[in-house]
Amino acid sequence: MSIEKVETVLIIGAGQAGASAILELRAQHYQGKIILIGDEQHLPYERPPLSKDAILTPEQCKLEILSAEKLLELGVVHLAGQAVVKIEPDVHQVHLHNGDVIGYDKLLLATGGSARRLPDLDALNQQVYTLRTLEDAQALIQVLQPNRRIILIGGGVIGLELASSARAKDCQVTLLEVGSRLMGRTTPAILADYLLTQHCQHGIDVRLNTQIKQCQLEGDELVLQLSNSRGDVEVLRADAIIYGIGIVPNSQLAVAAGLAVDGMSAIQVDANCQTSVADIYAAGDVATQLRCDGQYRRVETWENANLQAAIFARHVMGVAHPQANPAWFWSDQLGTNYQFVGDMGADEWYIRGEMDHSVQNPSFILFGVSNQIIVAGITVNAAKEMRHVKKMVAGHSQFSTELHLDPTQQLRKMV
Ligand code: FAD
Ligand code: NAP
Repeated sequence: MSIEKVETVLIIGAGQAGASAILELRAQHYQGKIILIGDEQHLPYERPPLSKDAILTPEQCKLEILSAEKLLELGVVHLAGQAVVKIEPDVHQVHLHNGDVIGYDKLLLATGGSARRLPDLDALNQQVYTLRTLEDAQALIQVLQPNRRIILIGGGVIGLELASSARAKDCQVTLLEVGSRLMGRTTPAILADYLLTQHCQHGIDVRLNTQIKQCQLEGDELVLQLSNSRGDVEVLRADAIIYGIGIVPNSQLAVAAGLAVDGMSAIQVDANCQTSVADIYAAGDVATQLRCDGQYRRVETWENANLQAAIFARHVMGVAHPQANPAWFWSDQLGTNYQFVGDMGADEWYIRGEMDHSVQNPSFILFGVSNQIIVAGITVNAAKEMRHVKKMVAGHSQFSTELHLDPTQQLRKMV
């Protein structure tokens, strides 16, 4: 379909990818109609602050990606608080929860993901929380009060960032991780060990290899029975549980419409973010792409949502799309900024600077190397260096211990 014939672009999901797609479509001079349908009542907002500043300094925290004025200026029809319940690809229509039917020429599914549930805990019906939305974060502001006993389940990014926020609010924090290390999906062992010590030093009681066997309410108190890999059983008492054990993609609409999905029900897309069905695209947390190792994988990051949205918009406009850079994301924990780029499964890791727990404001860089090539990098309180590390990873730079690990040699001169 030529761009002149694209009269209506319809976007389902008013989050990061949905908002970015609008900005890119208009930046590429798309003149047609844009309809944005979101089941949340809000204008599109950023999620990264939800575990951090939205809890710590809510009054100063700006979340909005597109204001009402900006949407108006961009000529976008925004239907807030409206869930799409059905897609009919054959007739290029979607059905809304309120019964309305809307047509499209091109459709973007930017529906993100939802917190993976633990039904036994949900069944308690109180004092148990997850974090995905603004309302979830607002609820946590009330929960994280000084001296409250908080149990965090999941040693991934949500668990660790919330542990950090909860400590900043003087809560007593215990973190339970079922695996043998922290951030197991996204971090090499060398940094996972470092994070473990950092969190312990800040008074967070981290238990690895630990699962909940049972949990019940006794009056206002949550009573948990834990078991670990050694077979020890222990009882913990808490005022609240917050769990972050990953997400499930919001792909029910796509599955019902017959779009191809992977084993985790994420929507399969090609390099142009096109799904298996004509004129339907997917971007962000809901989409899964074939990686060079032959596996389909989701990339659940802010940058990927923006990038895939831009790829979609440019493909609709018939413009070459931005080159996919090595995956990048960040995390802020206990006052330290961590940034990650590239393949966290690198064969070997090398430290530039001091990875020293006794230092108050640590700053160092980790290089991930496979076959003498820099394939990944992690900056710790060294954000300014990340752009050089990114270039090294993207450019498949040859690694040299003498050069890259010598703090007197500037990284920018090596790129
Ligand atoms: P979302 O932003 O979740 O948007 C999807 C939208 O679609 C939602 O509003 C949803 O309600 C809506 N929707 C779903 N189904 C329907 C339907 N049927 N009809 C209408 N609307 C629907 N990434 C980083 O790189 N760094 C960070 O520090 C970081 N911190 C994070 C902190 C938190 C607490 C969370 C939750 C995520 C964080 N992320 C971070 C990840 C990043 O925010 C996500 O990868 C990104 O938001 C994904 O964008 P998306 O558009 O795919 O999904
Ligand atoms: P996550 O990063 O996938 O981490 C979930 C963790 O919980 C994993 O370590 C997982 O271990 C563990 N786990 C799974 N089941 C468990 C159980 N029953 N008991 C105890 N631990 C269990 O997911 P998340 O932290 O929930 O984050 C959710 C989403 O928010 C993701 O999309 C994430 O990218 C996004 N987010 C990103 C950032 C950031 O990038 N800075 C910050 C916050 C949130 P296994 O790996 O062994 O299963």
